[in-house]
Parts: sequence; C-alpha cells; structure tokens
Amino acid sequence: MTITDAQTFKNFIGGEWVDAASGETFESVSPADGETIGIFPKSSAEDVDRAVAAAKAAFEDWRLVPAPKRGEILFRFARLVEDHKDDLTDLMTHEMGKVKAEAGGDVQEAIDMSYYMAGEGRRLWGQTTPSELKDKFNMSVRMPIGVVGVITPWNFPIAIPSWKIAPALVCGNTVVFKPATDTPLLGERFVELLVEAGVPAGVVNIVHGGGAAVGDRLVRHPDVPVITLTGSRETGVQVMRNAADHLKHIHLELGGKNAIIVLDDADLDLAMDGIVWSAFGTTGQRCTAASRVIVQEDVYDALASKLVAAAEKLRLGVGWEDDTDVGPVINRTALEKIDSYTKIGVDEGAKLLTGGEVATGNGLDKGHYYRPTIFGDVDAQMRIAQEEIFGPTTALIKVKDFDEAIRVSNGIRYGLSSSIFTRDVNKAFRAMRDLAAGITYVNAGTIGAEVHLPFGGTKDTGNGHREAGQAALDVFTEWKSIYVDYSGKLQRAQIDTAE
Ligand code: NAD
Repeated sequence: MTITDAQTFKNFIGGEWVDAASGETFESVSPADGETIGIFPKSSAEDVDRAVAAAKAAFEDWRLVPAPKRGEILFRFARLVEDHKDDLTDLMTHEMGKVKAEAGGDVQEAIDMSYYMAGEGRRLWGQTTPSELKDKFNMSVRMPIGVVGVITPWNFPIAIPSWKIAPALVCGNTVVFKPATDTPLLGERFVELLVEAGVPAGVVNIVHGGGAAVGDRLVRHPDVPVITLTGSRETGVQVMRNAADHLKHIHLELGGKNAIIVLDDADLDLAMDGIVWSAFGTTGQRCTAASRVIVQEDVYDALASKLVAAAEKLRLGVGWEDDTDVGPVINRTALEKIDSYTKIGVDEGAKLLTGGEVATGNGLDKGHYYRPTIFGDVDAQMRIAQEEIFGPTTALIKVKDFDEAIRVSNGIRYGLSSSIFTRDVNKAFRAMRDLAAGITYVNAGTIGAEVHLPFGGTKDTGNGHREAGQAALDVFTEWKSIYVDYSGKLQRAQIDTAE
C-alpha cells in the first residue's frame, strides 16, 4: 500500500466522525514492513476541548443509566470483539507488530475484561453497616466521577484501552480516549465497536494525536477529573505534575525492570521456557518483560547455555506469518535505543552472549528488527540491569543464595512483576512475601496476568492504584457514605450513644 491509497480516518466526538480542527494529519506506519496503515487527524487542544465538552454533556444522562444496562452494552461490545477477533489480530500484527498468537491474546484480554466489567454492572458493591445509634441506617455507594481522560501506549493496543474504558463506563463515567500515535487504527476500531454495541453519543470520544498536544491538554483540562495513563515513568511524572493544579485523580501504570529468579533446585528446562517467553515475547516490549534473570551460581552456566541456544533458534519476521517467533520493535527510535543499550552493556563490562545487533536480510530491512540479546556476567548495578530498555534484551546476574537473589530482585526503582523458579515450597512462600512487586509468579515467567486480579506495581511502577479486577473500580468511582436516620428525632453521633 502506498500513501496515496491509504485510508484516512477521523476523530469521534459527540457521536460524529470529524477531522482535526487544524486539518493536519499524521501517518500510522507498520513496524514490520513500512506499509502505511492509515492517515489520522493530528489533533490539538481545540479538538480535545470539543471532546471534553461532549463527554461532560453526555455524563449527565449516562450516570443515570442503570449500571446493569451499562453492563449490557459492554456485554454486547465483548461479543462484537469476539466476532472481530481475527481481523483485529491481523491488524495488530501489521500496525503494532506482535506475532499472531500474542496479538490474539491481546484481543482476548479485551474480551475477557469487557465480560468481567459487564458483570460489574450487577455488582458495584458498596457496604451496609450497623449504626451506633438506634433507628439509623448506614451504607456506602460508589459514585461515578465524570469525564475520564484515557491515555494509552502502543504495546497492548486493544487490551489496555479495555482495562481502562470498560471499568470507566460501567461505573457511569464518560471517556475521552487518546491512543498512542503508533497504533491509532486499533484505537479507532475499538471505538467503532463500542459505538456498534450501543454506547450513546458523547459517552466515548476518541482524539488522535501526540502526547504533547492531545495528552497534555487532557491532563490539564479543568473538566477532566480523572486521568488514567499507561506509559513510561518519565511521562507519568510529567502527568502527575501537570495535573496537580486541579487535584485530579491520577492513575499511573508505568515501567518495569522485572526479574526471574532461578534457584539451584529449579526445573531448568521449565525455567528456560519461562525466561524465553518472558524476555522475548512481544519482542521484549511488555511492561512485565523479564529483562533480568537472577541465577544461583551452581546452575548459572547450564542455564546460560540453554538460554543462548534457545534464543538463537528464534525466528524473526513479520507477525502475520505462522512460523515467526519474534516480531519487530515498534519504530526506529526504539530500535536505536535498544541498540544503544547493547553498547552501554559492553562498555560496562557485561559479556554479550548472543544477539546485540539490528537484524537484516530476508526482508527484515523493511522493518525494525533486533536480534534477541542476552548479556552474561552482569552486575546488578549496571545500567542494563537497572534501566528499562523495552526490547529483546535480558541480563543474567549470578548470585550465591536465595537471600541475595531477593535483594537483587528488589534492588531497582520499579516494582511490577517478579518470578521465582524453585521446588522448595518454603523458599517459594518467602519469595511471595519478600519480593517487592505488585505481581509474583511461582514456577512461571513474569507475564501472564488474568483480568480478575489486580494488575499494577509498587515503587516507581505507579502511584498505588491497580488496574483490572475489583481494584479498578477504585480508580473510576468515589465513595459516598450515606446515613439515614429514621428515629424522627435529633440523634448526635458519638454523643447520644448511651440511649
Ligand atoms: P509513553 O510514556 O511514551 O506514552 C504513553 C502515552 O502517553 C502515549 O499515548 C503518549 O502519547 C502519551 N504522552 C506522552 N507524553 C505525554 C504528556 N506529557 N502528557 C500526556 N500524555 C502524554 O510510553 P510508550 O512508549 O507508549 O509505552 C511504553 C511504556 O509504557 C513503557 O515504559 C512500559 O513499561 C509502559 N507500560 C506499562 C504498563 C503497566 O501496566 N505498568 C503496561 C504497558 C506499558
């Protein structure tokens, strides 16, 4: 496809498909082969302001739609995403680049999350409690908040919007959605299906464009009381700072530097499978990717050689071909960043065991491909062991014992996912207690979250909130405590308690 026959897409504001006010556009280009996927409105503050006004107006009716009815719309949406799973999966292999099985998993996660949140329409539980006074009734209820600004990254272009938009809607909020500029068409398809499912005009709006223009305006807009962002730590810090004047609810899901611990009693083949899947799945571009492997010294050499052999067997290519194991990285900037970390690792004195270069030949030159890379003899304080690279690079760190393994695993600024391979149940339980992360896996890699448990991290991975499961509802609602006195007389709490 060339630029001249690429399709042009629009923003969706107040129930209408519209161009950017400026008329400007940008292209979405496939990281796999350079194909132009589509042309999108390059929006500005003016477009955001229109979308926020539409969402604010729609909130007044939407918040009064009974929650089970809102859930039914999400249920229809989930069914539509199921019907479109194959075409969304194929589109994802082209626009984002991940391989077919993983793209299907990304779409499936949105299906699962939408069904789960549809069910929340009939729960949204509050509490009833006894009163300390006679003839008085106490309860708490969840209230919707208003317009939610949804800002998403490109690495889970269908799943992550569902983690945010499905709970926001079932709770009775309206949404202005800004997808990443690398994956606008998947964001667009997501909204088309919501509209087809019956979401009323103004309840969901999409505004395409960059973080500095569109995202930042959402963050600073006085009529957007909630911002939910998944992105890098640096973006999270900026967002929190820029939203401070309005004391917004800010929900941040940020970076990771996740580790797999392999103890000397582990099943090494199982550990190897978990490491390869966690380090090189999605070409290492997962917030939960295993970019560190902490290995007890007795099994270090054996595991390192198994890993190198497995990494060298992985086939790079376009995601839509069945025999591809590892797809491209998202864009040239990412490729250059990943390559620069290889140089940093070598300069720091780590041993490059395999990979460490841009992959070319066999059509790979048309896209952005990097060889799965493993560093050995890594010191836990090296930059390659501390900073998020977000590519197919992992660092092997040798440790003496369990206690050192836990210390090294925790010795980073992030706290998203963690994992331990061991057959010792006592050590497994100590790891579950002591690993400072939002997620711990035992005898599995660092990836594989399910939608009904809280998802998110400690320390610099976020700001204490969680996505998914019931925990997500706390982001998108305010609690109200209600006291009903049916005694017919003035009863003073904490004072008239003796009667
Ligand atoms: P990014 O921070 O560059 O961008 C994320 C989104 O924020 C994009 O839509 C971008 O346009 C927008 N944005 C950028 N600057 C902004 C600003 N000043 N104000 C408002 N919006 C702004 O991240 P990315 O490269 O798209 O994604 C990769 C990052 O996301 C990695 O750090 C990864 O770990 C993280 N991530 C975290 C999770 C999680 O759940 N913890 C999940 C996936 C990805």
